[in-house]
Amino acid sequence: MKTYKKILYIIFITGIATLICLDVVSQNGQQVMQSSIYNNKLPLLIIDAGHGGEDGGAVASDGTVEKEINLNIAEQVYSLSLLLGFDSLMTRCSDDALSDKTLSTIRERKMSDIDARMKILSEHKEGCLLSIHQNQFADRTCSGMQVFYSENNEMSQPLASSIQSYTINNLQKENTRKIKPTTDDIYMLKHANNPAVMVECGFMSNENELQNLKNQRYGTKIAMCILFGVLDASNPERNI
Ligand SMILES: [Zn+2]
Repeated sequence: MKTYKKILYIIFITGIATLICLDVVSQNGQQVMQSSIYNNKLPLLIIDAGHGGEDGGAVASDGTVEKEINLNIAEQVYSLSLLLGFDSLMTRCSDDALSDKTLSTIRERKMSDIDARMKILSEHKEGCLLSIHQNQFADRTCSGMQVFYSENNEMSQPLASSIQSYTINNLQKENTRKIKPTTDDIYMLKHANNPAVMVECGFMSNENELQNLKNQRYGTKIAMCILFGVLDASNPERNI
């Protein structure tokens, strides 16, 4: 994105964020108390838009590709995080994988993409991974955010819990999903030593939720919930 476009985008997001902040905060009657991470300081955020380039991730029935939703939400998390005072970086800022394109097989390129993302984590050991993905399931009635966490760092579980709780309390009151420790197939969470969570923002297989996930304003709400969840985990006594 060119610089002037990015500035315009940030100004636009600022306006929406102000409105949504008021909306989300006003609904937040009860704060979820979590153990504090980072001693009440804001962590560096490593915002990871899942997939990219030739790796599209899940594909919805209408042809929507997961990588696009992931990048849209990740960009909003990034822009809003700067407004909230975080230091943040993104693992990818465009529709491009981090893979070594000279490798001959898809599997090799996929592994090099994951290696490149892991390298970013290891270069920022103090950074907190927020990996953004979408869910898909054969039962099309399934819906709602679910957060997975790494078991390699004790700060990951309270971070996941805070994001899940904030979203349920403020955006998805019918969501009964619980946070889960990572499975072996979520490579970054399985191997990262940073505080690390993967946010499955919703189910692309659910028609209503897919329409929400494709909606810019809903994406901003999801981004706000993720960030306010991080804020709650960082400082449980905050007053906003
Ligand atoms: Zn994914």
